[in-house]
Amino acid sequence: MTAHPLFDICGRTALVTGSSRGIGLALARGLAEAGCTVVLNGRDGDALAKAAAALPGEQVHTAAFDVTDSAAVAAGIADVEERVAPLDILVNNAGMQLRAPLTEFTDTDWHRILDTNLTSAFLVGREAARRMTGRGHGKIINICSLQSEVVRPGIAPYAATKGALKMLTKGMCADWGPYGVQVNGLGPGYIDTELTRPLVEDEEFSAWVRRRTPAGRWGRTEDLVGGVLFLASPAADFVSGQVLYVDGGMTSVL
Ligand code: NDP
Repeated sequence: MTAHPLFDICGRTALVTGSSRGIGLALARGLAEAGCTVVLNGRDGDALAKAAAALPGEQVHTAAFDVTDSAAVAAGIADVEERVAPLDILVNNAGMQLRAPLTEFTDTDWHRILDTNLTSAFLVGREAARRMTGRGHGKIINICSLQSEVVRPGIAPYAATKGALKMLTKGMCADWGPYGVQVNGLGPGYIDTELTRPLVEDEEFSAWVRRRTPAGRWGRTEDLVGGVLFLASPAADFVSGQVLYVDGGMTSVL
């Protein structure tokens, strides 16, 4: 038996920002396994080449650019469309975390986290949507967070960026929906990656995550693939402006 045609995304072209490692790399692998032409992005060309070599399929490309740099984003997207193919799917995944009490958070760090987690989705999304809306179709998936909904001490700026990203997702849906582009968010729970390594290594915190999550464990990067494949597929053609939380149930319980 084959998969339902509504879930068929074979032959589509997808750009995943921040895919040299972690969640982005797992999502890129999932899209490649589904038959997509995949473009990996990050700032480090060598890391991207290494990541691309480990992915399945012939159609894996790299595009090194900084998603916080407007000119670099414009040039990067133009280059991908010319060198690879017109983009059907964009996953705005690049992001960072900075943990500090709010009173000690510096101006520099505030702008850095805002640029990396929020402005990047605006810049890359705008550039991709200028092309997708002209063609009359496209899927944009913004990687939000359970912290789009809830927050803990020490991560207010991160939660602010992810809460705003949720509203940016809804705004993009409003603006670009009439032109055939669906925009949704995917909100991971606690996932074991480089970004959360200090938390994974903190025994007490790690045990708290397991206790607090109905599924009873930390998330794995592969846990997020199904949600992204769904949101990228024709099965989600009438789904837009939503955030799908993939968090083992954590955002639903006290
Ligand atoms: P990682 O730190 O493992 O990976 C981040 C990726 O983003 C890397 O590929 C990095 O590559 C890239 N990146 C960072 N800054 C830039 C930039 N300015 N331009 C281009 N690429 C950049 O993080 P995760 O995989 O854990 O997180 C991925 C996304 O998922 C983030 O948006 C994060 O907020 C979100 N998320 C993660 C959760 C978790 O528990 N891990 C939970 C909820 C959400 P390089 O540094 O080489 O440029």
